[in-house]
Amino acid sequence: MTTQHYATWADAFTDTTRGYHHPHFVRAETTPAGGIDFEFSPFDGTEPEPAMPEVPTDTIPHGSPDREFLVRMYRAARERWEEARTVVTEPETCARYLTLAGQVLADRALTTDVIDRGTEWEPRSYTWECRGCPGLGDGFQYLADAERDANAHAEACRGIPVP
Ligand SMILES: [Zn+2]
Repeated sequence: MTTQHYATWADAFTDTTRGYHHPHFVRAETTPAGGIDFEFSPFDGTEPEPAMPEVPTDTIPHGSPDREFLVRMYRAARERWEEARTVVTEPETCARYLTLAGQVLADRALTTDVIDRGTEWEPRSYTWECRGCPGLGDGFQYLADAERDANAHAEACRGIPVP
């Protein structure tokens, strides 16, 4: 093995693990705190889930710093990939209930609307908003629960928007 001079230990690991890098890997840099930062070309979330390939132990032994470098590289790649997959969709109205005030006044604009907030990571994505009063529902995990609560609110809501 030839003696090479590397600017940083990140460069050394980048070289010794060549052939096993994630396809999006661009470079690794040591941080002032002694950690390591991985740079990747952008992910769009349609790539296969980043997973470390089979690396022969006679090439890169278990427990070696080189293997740890690869483990961290794939962990970082996975984080970027997951960020790219987290899609925020527009809030969507799922159901609409005419309020009591709406019935009495025959005003179809006075409704309690069930909203899917469209936040993938939010386990209670469903809620409701009232267009008659400033009422706001809790977050619900299931659409049916949000609908039931919104309907109950609408049945009793006498609110009229303040001009
Ligand atoms: Zn209301």
